[in-house]
Amino acid sequence: MLDVRVRVKGESELARLAASFNTMAGALEQSEERQRRLIADVAHEMRTPLSNLRGYLEALSDGVVDPSPELFASLHEETLLQGRILDDLQVLALAEAGDLGYTKTPADLTELAATGVTAQQARAAEAGVTLTLEPSPPVWVEADQDRLRQVLGNLLSNAIRYTDKDGQVVVRVHEERGEAILTVRDTGVGIAAGDLPHVFERFWRADKARQRATGGTGLGLTIAQRIVTDHQGSIEVTSQPHLGTTFTVRLPTSVPDRRS
Ligand code: ADP
Repeated sequence: MLDVRVRVKGESELARLAASFNTMAGALEQSEERQRRLIADVAHEMRTPLSNLRGYLEALSDGVVDPSPELFASLHEETLLQGRILDDLQVLALAEAGDLGYTKTPADLTELAATGVTAQQARAAEAGVTLTLEPSPPVWVEADQDRLRQVLGNLLSNAIRYTDKDGQVVVRVHEERGEAILTVRDTGVGIAAGDLPHVFERFWRADKARQRATGGTGLGLTIAQRIVTDHQGSIEVTSQPHLGTTFTVRLPTSVPDRRS
């Protein structure tokens, strides 16, 4: 790589200029490196569903496999996964460019959680998982409601996806020292201590989760973290393998909208 750094010693104006030039050059290098890594990651992630598709299509045209409704369902699933990866990447790219265009309004986190839980009840029932929301008074935040719903949707669908039949997912909203706190706790497969620092990384997935062929993109938590930090909040995870996982989202509280 070309080294564009300028070397000027001392405290002179020129030395200060050289220092700020070097800082800018460093930032540019970092952003180029991030872009290179993103492209390599995307190519890697798209390759598997694409080569699965190609394999199926070749087998079909060679007459090695018979066309069956199951085969077509599987082909369809592969194309859906590629679509999901691209949709998620688009959101992530917009978020990283600061271009997601948030429309923040006063929102009751309790009500938002209730809607999110209702939306995922059918999915939980299908997986044999009990999904409940602990009762709580309104907790107000200033938020883009659609984006916050997306965060909750991701946490809930993960919790359901990584919890075996007869397990539980419990959602709780409460307020503590000026912070609105949302927790999603599950009794699922859990995450190994060594893996915890990686869960918010782009495309990261625990091996076991990959083997379960869950159909996830590995981008959900990266996007969720981005949205939460864009709301001046934080998101954390604690977990015990085989016992379960808890995600905690913290947001600044706001004064309720009393116009209505
Ligand atoms: P994915 O689309 O694979 O679910 P995410 O970014 O949402 O991508 O999650 C990244 C990885 O973190 C998952 O693949 C899984 O290994 C792990 N993970 C996320 N949520 C949970 C959970 N509730 N329980 C266990 N593992 C989880």
